[in-house]
Amino acid sequence: MPQTQEKPIGMVAKPTRSQEFYDNVKRKFAEERDLRLGYRPEGTAQYTSDLSGELSRYEVDPYAGEVTPREPINDTVEVLFIGGGFSALLTSARLRERGVESIRIVERGADVGGTWYWNRYPGVACDVVAYDYLPLLDELDYVPKDHYAKGPEIFAHCQAIARKYNLYELATFQTTVTSTEWDPVDQMWNLTTDRGDHMKARFVICANGTLSKPKLAKIKGLETFNGHSFHTSRWDYAYTGPDLSGLDGNVVGIIGTGATAVQAIPGLGAAAKELYVFQRTPSSIDVRDDWPTDPNWARRLKPGWQTKRRERAKMQPFMTPDQTAKYAAMSHEEKVRRQENANIEAMMKIHQRIDSIVKDKATAEALKPWYMLLCKRPCFHNDYLPTFNRPNVHLVDTHGKGITEITEKGPVFEGKQYELDVLIYATGFEVQKTGIYNQIRGEQGLELNDKYREGIRTLLGIHSQGYPNLFIMGGYQASFQFNLTDMLQAQGDHIAACIEYARRHGFQSIDVTPKAEEWWVQEIIKHRGKTNRNQECTPGYYNFEGEFQRRQDGNYNGGFFQYCNHMTEVQARMEDHFSFIRK
Ligand code: NDP
Repeated sequence: MPQTQEKPIGMVAKPTRSQEFYDNVKRKFAEERDLRLGYRPEGTAQYTSDLSGELSRYEVDPYAGEVTPREPINDTVEVLFIGGGFSALLTSARLRERGVESIRIVERGADVGGTWYWNRYPGVACDVVAYDYLPLLDELDYVPKDHYAKGPEIFAHCQAIARKYNLYELATFQTTVTSTEWDPVDQMWNLTTDRGDHMKARFVICANGTLSKPKLAKIKGLETFNGHSFHTSRWDYAYTGPDLSGLDGNVVGIIGTGATAVQAIPGLGAAAKELYVFQRTPSSIDVRDDWPTDPNWARRLKPGWQTKRRERAKMQPFMTPDQTAKYAAMSHEEKVRRQENANIEAMMKIHQRIDSIVKDKATAEALKPWYMLLCKRPCFHNDYLPTFNRPNVHLVDTHGKGITEITEKGPVFEGKQYELDVLIYATGFEVQKTGIYNQIRGEQGLELNDKYREGIRTLLGIHSQGYPNLFIMGGYQASFQFNLTDMLQAQGDHIAACIEYARRHGFQSIDVTPKAEEWWVQEIIKHRGKTNRNQECTPGYYNFEGEFQRRQDGNYNGGFFQYCNHMTEVQARMEDHFSFIRK
């Protein structure tokens, strides 16, 4: 199989230097973090996702055109999904296999796909191996075209899933759910939308994704810019042209250097007259080991090949008895120290790669990330670093401060005005909020986020007591997986099993017991905070921009294997974890 020469650095690097070296690097990491925390003590409040009023144009769907008029819907379905991305598609497939016919997807976009509907910026692709990331490959008898899939292929796969499982029949697009209220008499959810709908559903699944609402940095004067501007998740191809030829002769700026910007910048650098990259913190850029799928390999795949890969992902990493014994004998401090040293070694290799590619020494220095690998989303790209060798591409390194002012001409940094025709915001998304755009009121009329104000409380991150027949996908207190679809598939299978159980036993509703919920909250607390890693990281959305967090307000850190085991246990003893009301 043709492959690139270089292999990703990942975490395979072995610590080989003196402890003093690693301690010095750690000190530098801490200085860089403190610098950024000093600039932005307000934490997550530095951003806004309230894109209303003057900012509303940053959220308009550029792909759908006008909203298609329709009559309000007043009907009842058995299962309603809020959101039409992978969470909804995967779970619907499992529900269809179990004979559930009445399924509606309510989606803000004009099609299914979720993040792959919205993110169509040039260069968009996924960093997880396609044979693992794209779900339901066995069911759709499809083998991805390349080792890593590009955005359009993933979006087309979402549409293919929706067609295969007849999900377009009842779907309502360009519709946002605004309230979801439990009716304890009917034992049903009542939903309203921004299109005047009044829908009822027995089961509701919050499938609104983990990074769905675009956010902007609150930069002074942002709204005064006279040039053209947009957010990466609302790419304006009407302006840039599909091949970016519309940028010919344009001076372009991009704010942000996260995973999105890293993929968009090579194309922008090739198309624009001048490109200014406004950097606050560099990303780590590893090798992208990509190749076209070998047709002979694809032909030899046996039915069920992807299911087997997914099963392997759930397994614990293998250690020999000797390795296990050595690990067990090590003190906690020693384990942490070894992990940190290996991590620093990997980051130093990321630095060396920059030096070997980027010709200008000052630019190379500025592109070096000074934090532990995985403090921010690691990136994999072969064209990003070489883009900075182009004479028309300029890195504006703000040394952790960021752009704090924009005038009608463009951003200003250290008194220098950057005059732009186009300004692109690659400033990311609001993170992992359940009930985005939506108020969810349970048995006591309490809004879910008000319940969470005293700390998130769920079972498996999926069920929350007092919200019967409501299932949350991709939320906090679930396992964190680099391949999100592994996690969503596990959750989708679990939800389908719960709904099937309720249907089979003639139950109208299923709600987690306070005891089961408390058990899971304690499991979360037990597994979080084993190290100070999160606090020591440079600020970013992974650590809530450095804000204090309760230990229960995050993901389950016990590992995916244990998370799946807990799911199996819960399914095996449903009566111990849930209360039910019979029809
Ligand atoms: P991020 O939140 O990761 O990045 C936002 C960027 O904006 C950061 O670089 C941030 O700097 C910067 N920023 C914010 N305010 C300012 C400012 N005032 N001046 C200069 N820079 C500023 O968003 P992304 O859209 O890049 O990525 C979000 C997530 O989406 C990823 O983490 C990943 O999970 C997913 N994704 C995955 C991809 C893949 O598979 N390859 C591709 C794209 C996205 P700072 O770092 O200092 O906060």
